[in-house]
Amino acid sequence: MKIHHLQTVAKGRQCPNCGGPVVAQFRPFCSKRCATLDLHRWLNEDYRIPAVEDEEIDDDDFEQEDTAEI
Ligand SMILES: [Zn+2]
Repeated sequence: MKIHHLQTVAKGRQCPNCGGPVVAQFRPFCSKRCATLDLHRWLNEDYRIPAVEDEEIDDDDFEQEDTAEI
């Protein structure tokens, strides 16, 4: 099984946009250009956060409980 290390890296000292070294002034990005590009991606909802998967599993569990007879 492959584990994605990208999330950890993004919170480190690498620009999540291009992977370059982060500059404190534009944290967590390396430059104003990357910060702006990322912001536009968010605004366009082009960004996917892998937290939806958890919600789906929760939903499944709930449905099972709901159909069980008490
Ligand atoms: Zn960058």
